[in-house]
Amino acid sequence: MLSAQNISKSYPSTTGALLNVLAEVSLSLSAGENVAIMGPSGSGKSTLLSILGTLEYPTSGQVLIDGIDPFQLAEPELAAFRSRQIGFVFQDHHLLPQCTVLENVLIPFLADGKAGPEEVAHASGLLERVGLAERSLHRPAQLSGGERQRVALARALVRNPQVLLADEPTGNLDSATAESIAQLLLELQQETAAVLIVVTHSTQLAQKLQNRLVIEQGRLRVADG
Ligand code: ADP
Repeated sequence: MLSAQNISKSYPSTTGALLNVLAEVSLSLSAGENVAIMGPSGSGKSTLLSILGTLEYPTSGQVLIDGIDPFQLAEPELAAFRSRQIGFVFQDHHLLPQCTVLENVLIPFLADGKAGPEEVAHASGLLERVGLAERSLHRPAQLSGGERQRVALARALVRNPQVLLADEPTGNLDSATAESIAQLLLELQQETAAVLIVVTHSTQLAQKLQNRLVIEQGRLRVADG
């Protein structure tokens, strides 16, 4: 479903020397599998997530999502591929403040044109699933942090992506709300059989996932314990 083989990423630095952020990182996940990626700040977690999310190109190595190498696609096809196959959940919900909750959930459809009645019905169903049916015409500012993150989960899943990528999805929430968002994220992942990769510093969240990996100095290894 998702495989990354020997992913390396370097950035040029001001001294002219290369900054090697990821070194020969490989991982592979089948439908319905999930994994936590942990590691110190600056170790390359977000860079890896950006590459797996096709937002950034690797310097070398190959990513395959459902048998397709996204980096072989031209830019418009890559953007369409990304919005169909990959759902993103960020620490800060990244909802558009001027749009309603329902409009925010529909955003991934806009990459391919406008959302019709079928898409609206699907998005409304998801809002019901995350417990926010009555809030669909509210704006993000009218919601609590946990509610905003529920909307972000609905938006990430609205196109039934095969891959769900979450960067500190509970990072800005109090512990009870974090617990309920983590629970919901995992339930939705199991229901949709998406692959889920969660970058987190939270051992509590990481413990809920099937596998735990650590990045240190750009290298990926299985976490201790
Ligand atoms: P983490 O998510 O683990 O905190 P990042 O993936 O954000 O780590 O960053 C890893 C390293 O790569 C850091 O040293 C960071 O400064 C560097 N880095 C990230 N993006 C860029 C970029 N676009 N240009 C140069 N250096 C970058």
